[in-house]
Amino acid sequence: MNLLIVEDNKELAIELKDFLSSTGYVCKISSTCKDALDETNSNHYDIMLLDLGLPDGSGFDILKSVRKKQSKIAVIVVTARAELDDKINGLHLGADDYLTKPFALTELQARLFAIVRRLGGFTQNELDLYGFKLQLQDYKVTYKEIPIKLTKKEFDIFQYLVLNKNRVITRMQLIEHIWGDILEVSSDSNFIDVHVRNLRKKLDKHTTLEWFETVRNVGYRINI
Ligand code: CA
Repeated sequence: MNLLIVEDNKELAIELKDFLSSTGYVCKISSTCKDALDETNSNHYDIMLLDLGLPDGSGFDILKSVRKKQSKIAVIVVTARAELDDKINGLHLGADDYLTKPFALTELQARLFAIVRRLGGFTQNELDLYGFKLQLQDYKVTYKEIPIKLTKKEFDIFQYLVLNKNRVITRMQLIEHIWGDILEVSSDSNFIDVHVRNLRKKLDKHTTLEWFETVRNVGYRINI
C-alpha cells in the first residue's frame, strides 16, 4: 500500500514514516500543500494521512482537490484541531476518517487496517479464501490451520493481489506498491516473478492454484 504522509512537523512525519514503513506501507512525506498536490497528481497513492495546518494553506484544499479528481485515495485527517466544525467540514469534503493529535500509533494502525479492509471489500481482519486464511494484522497465512511460512515480500504480494481480487495487477503495480518508487529499484522487473514463483510454490503444496492466474506478459490476478 502506498501512503502519503502530509505533515509539516518534521519529527512527527519521520516518526510516522518509520512506524508505518516497519508495518509494510510504502511511505512518502509531503510537508506543504504544493508538494502534496504534486505528489497526488504524479503518483498513485492508496491512503493519505492529512494534516490540516500546513505552511502554505489548509489540508482541506488538498482534500477538495483530490476528491474533485474523483480519486479513490482513502484520506485520514490527522489534526490538532478537535473542533466539531472541522470534522463536519472534512466529512463533507470526503475524508474517510479522523485522528486527533496526540494519538497512539497503535490507534493509527487500527484505523489503517479498517481502511485497507474496506479498500479490498472485506469486513474482517482475517481474509478467508479457498481454505487459506490471511491475517492482515499479524502477517500470517495458514491453510486449514497449518501455518505457511512466507517472507515479508511474499506476504505483501499475496495480500495486495487478494485485496485487489479479480483485477489484473501488473508487475509495475506490484513493484510500485511493494517496493515503492520504481526508479529506486532495478529497471528489470523479472525479480518480481521470482518472488511470485516462490509464493506459488509454497501455496501450491496445499492446493491447485486455479484461482491464482498468470496473465501472460502483463501480471497476475487472483480470482475470488
Ligand atoms: Ca501542521
